[in-house]
Amino acid sequence: MPRPVEGAPGSFVHTFWPGRVVFGAGTLAQVGDEVAALGVRRVLVVATRSARAVADAVEQQLGDRFTGRIDGVTQHVPTELADAARTTAREANADAIVAIGGGSAIGLAKAVALTSAAEVVVVAVPTTYAGSEMTPVWGETSGGSKTTGVDARVLPRVVVYDSMLSQGLPVKVTAASVANAMAHCVEAVWTPKADPITEVIAVEGLRALSAGLRAVLVEPEDLEARGTLLYGACLAGSALATAGTGLHHKLCHLLGGTYNLPHAETHAAVLPQVARVKAPTVPQSAARLAVALGGDEADGGLARELFQLFQRAGLAVSLRELGLRREQVDEATDRFGESAEVVQAILVRAWDGVRP
Ligand code: NAD
Repeated sequence: MPRPVEGAPGSFVHTFWPGRVVFGAGTLAQVGDEVAALGVRRVLVVATRSARAVADAVEQQLGDRFTGRIDGVTQHVPTELADAARTTAREANADAIVAIGGGSAIGLAKAVALTSAAEVVVVAVPTTYAGSEMTPVWGETSGGSKTTGVDARVLPRVVVYDSMLSQGLPVKVTAASVANAMAHCVEAVWTPKADPITEVIAVEGLRALSAGLRAVLVEPEDLEARGTLLYGACLAGSALATAGTGLHHKLCHLLGGTYNLPHAETHAAVLPQVARVKAPTVPQSAARLAVALGGDEADGGLARELFQLFQRAGLAVSLRELGLRREQVDEATDRFGESAEVVQAILVRAWDGVRP
């Protein structure tokens, strides 16, 4: 009997994460039915402040299943906030959470699901393009340092993507959030867990994100474009879920955690410079991604296409603009602790915003 050899050409491992996606303009109206179908009885709603009206609508749909609401959501899931949410969930005897908002609201729901003694399932209603709703990745910040991990318990059971909820997301926040999602797609082709199935998802995700962003820059409230962006975000999150993270996410994580740089915007400044170094190591995949970006310069290469798109979207393409000081580049290189020469070169160029 022939046996596959580990590491043989063409062999790979891909894990499909389970989950249900309900997609389309107006699907918010289906949240109540989706929750009921899960058979849960006591539901907490976690909602970002900007989603108050949406949370009111969900509360109505939940009827007697509704047990309470948490709306004090902040970035990076501070432990104090997570602990308070855990207490609320325990006291309410919650068996489900509907999280409405961006990565921060979904992150808070994940923190509760991770540590609850009894099972708490998460239903996610994303309003940004960060993609956390598709991943089993959790994060929590304590004393200025963020801990992350992977656990199937935090993976949302149902994700309801309603393009109407992100229709009014300001263009600047949109562009930064899209840069974050693009980073999931791009890095997915060179992490140690990269595989051909993930690559198909990543390339299609990048295509949708680029097309959606270009359309939203022209007409911010274009509902079809908002749907295209959410579809791209869903694929980007899926790519992150299976490929995991690599040099780019680790660098952004370090910069965000240590120097309090804004999470999504940091991706835009760093990604083109990491792509400049990494693309030559996976030339075919990088070429597919570059084509998917659909830029003006067909042969511009992945790094340059990303840089140009981010610039066109009005994003800062230098860490200097985001408030990092030059001496912190050297300090961050030391803190990173590996591949110092490569990391230093990436950060110096990212600090200056040098066109790749
Ligand atoms: P966020 O959730 O903090 O939202 C950004 C801002 O946009 C907030 O002020 C929010 O109130 C506002 N907002 C959200 N939706 C809006 C809407 N539709 N209209 C108007 N304003 C709106 O930021 P984010 O970028 O979505 O998420 C970032 C966080 O998610 C980070 O902590 C990051 O580490 C995490 N993240 C986690 C994963 C994962 O897999 N675990 C993946 C990506 C990001």
